[in-house]
Amino acid sequence: MPSSWDDAYSWDRPPAWDIGRPQPVFVRLAERGLLAGRLLDSGCGTGENTLLAAAHGADAVGVDLSGRAIERARAKAAERGLAARFETGDVLRLGDLGVAFDTVIDSGVFHVFDDENRVRYVASLGSVLRPGGRCYLMCFSDRQPGDFGPRRVSQDELRAAFGDGWDIASIEAAAFEINRPAFDIASAQAWLAVIERLG
Ligand code: SAH
Repeated sequence: MPSSWDDAYSWDRPPAWDIGRPQPVFVRLAERGLLAGRLLDSGCGTGENTLLAAAHGADAVGVDLSGRAIERARAKAAERGLAARFETGDVLRLGDLGVAFDTVIDSGVFHVFDDENRVRYVASLGSVLRPGGRCYLMCFSDRQPGDFGPRRVSQDELRAAFGDGWDIASIEAAAFEINRPAFDIASAQAWLAVIERLG
């Protein structure tokens, strides 16, 4: 069944978040060797961050609800000769994958969920991240003015969402790059949270 997210990937121009290269925040993590092991890019879109991780040696899998985004991601992997895998799937039901991961990336996905699905999402992440594994999550920050784009998230909300069973190692201010024609700014204020799954 086509996802409503497919609409975002069927325009003549890419959606605001689809910048055609990995987010600089994740490039820096990759350069520090942190995007490693069995890695899941949760809600990967057209896969730039998944492909970044694969290029740095991770055994990378990207999952997204949008079949169109996954098709595009697979085409990029083939064009670039990278071994990343891409699957259409629901990140609210990651347990269905039947795989445990060492590392999870979330670039702009946590902030799409309402309160109810936020709880389901965190449980879903917890069901596939091994104890001691880390989740690197970037979301729009409550310091970003305006009401365009996704929901803003506060540090307190991140801490509340990842309460039981998780340890928030750090939350740092970050820049979420976006396509200027879409929102008329080059980047939005974001948080990068580093969150460890407890055993
Ligand atoms: N991480 C990508 C895309 C961010 S936009 C990037 O940085 O470019 C949010 C993405 O989440 C979209 O691609 C959308 O299709 C996906 N998404 C939203 N809800 C989802 C769900 N329940 N399961 C899987 N993917 C979902």
